Amino acid sequence: MNNDKLIHAGDILTDDTFGFSNIERPVAAPLYQTSLFTFPDVAALQQALQNETASHLYSRGNNPTVELVEQRTAALEGGEQAKLFSSGVAAIAASILSCVEQGDHILCSSDAYTWARYISGTYLKRFGVTVTYVNAEDLEAVEQAITKKTRLIYLESPGTLTLHVQNLRALSALAKSYGITTIADNTWATPLYQNPLGLGIDIVVHSASKYLGGHSDVIGGIAIGSKERIEKIFKTEFLPIGHVPDPFQAWLIQRGMRTLHVRLPYHYQAALEVCDFLHDHSKVAQVNYPMHPKSPWFSLASEQMRGGCGLLSFRVKTTNREKIVTAVDAFSHFRIGVSWGGYESLVYPAAAAVDGDPSIIRLHIGLEATQTLLEDLDRVLSLL
Ligand SMILES: *Cc1c(COP(=O)(O)O)cnc(C)c1O
Repeated sequence: MNNDKLIHAGDILTDDTFGFSNIERPVAAPLYQTSLFTFPDVAALQQALQNETASHLYSRGNNPTVELVEQRTAALEGGEQAKLFSSGVAAIAASILSCVEQGDHILCSSDAYTWARYISGTYLKRFGVTVTYVNAEDLEAVEQAITKKTRLIYLESPGTLTLHVQNLRALSALAKSYGITTIADNTWATPLYQNPLGLGIDIVVHSASKYLGGHSDVIGGIAIGSKERIEKIFKTEFLPIGHVPDPFQAWLIQRGMRTLHVRLPYHYQAALEVCDFLHDHSKVAQVNYPMHPKSPWFSLASEQMRGGCGLLSFRVKTTNREKIVTAVDAFSHFRIGVSWGGYESLVYPAAAAVDGDPSIIRLHIGLEATQTLLEDLDRVLSLL
């Protein structure tokens, strides 16, 4: 059923502008690369002005190509409504801002994406919002950190870099019992393999720059939730602040989404094979991939997720930064860079940062022949 949604949900079926009949129809989605919409008379303009959330007035608000992605994502996540943003970070920032006022308190997973932590902890401090970073794998620690002012629990499961898993169902139930809103970043599993709204989470956020776009050629982000929450975000964070997706950005994302259900199982299978290889390798101290049977997170992960993606990390036994950097430089198929979720294999060594544990290496397993990648990996590990 999800496969049909990926291909067709939100499709724009009639396009009167070009006079297509019901017999002939372009198969690709129309790209409405327009900044504004005009009206036959002032009365129609007035009507649109009075209800900008639901009308086509100006592309800083709504645009049909953008709405296609929103409807497709909402259908996949089982949410009433979605809003597409110019980036994942914009969707995250708008969702967080929509939940808090001066004096409020945020509980943020210490494993969350860097910029989600920055918005909650550093940026919002200027406006009198406080944050506590908490290990969200530990339900008791989360409950103990709740204060009378806590309005939001921000989660990301699996978490960035080490891919630890949080119990989204238990955490959302806990939050609900205190009247606290929950946001979960679902970028890793994608809407195909995990649906946090169904586990009780209030707002789901995605970076569409990863698997939804899927071809490393577009940046975008999405927030999904109830009609009420998304309309509030539309009116109070999206329209006034203006992190607007370009229609062509949206067009690329809807095109990428049509093949998500074909690409993702390949990434998943290939990642499992790489994990098998790494688990048996003498230079490797730890493998982080929650959907692998040897992962300590496997049981919880399999309860919440239907599969995994191509992103994994592992720790090598040495902590010698120079040695790790020299080895990573020797990759010939994995390309060195940030981000993930495209067709290509990538490596990001934690040793690229000046501080922190240099022994962690993150891999994105792309759509190349897995055997080639394993040989590349084996050659590089032999240098350590
Ligand atoms: C990349 C990423 C983001 C940020 O998305 P952008 O589209 O780069 O702004 C947020 N969360 C996770 C888990 C990510 O991997």
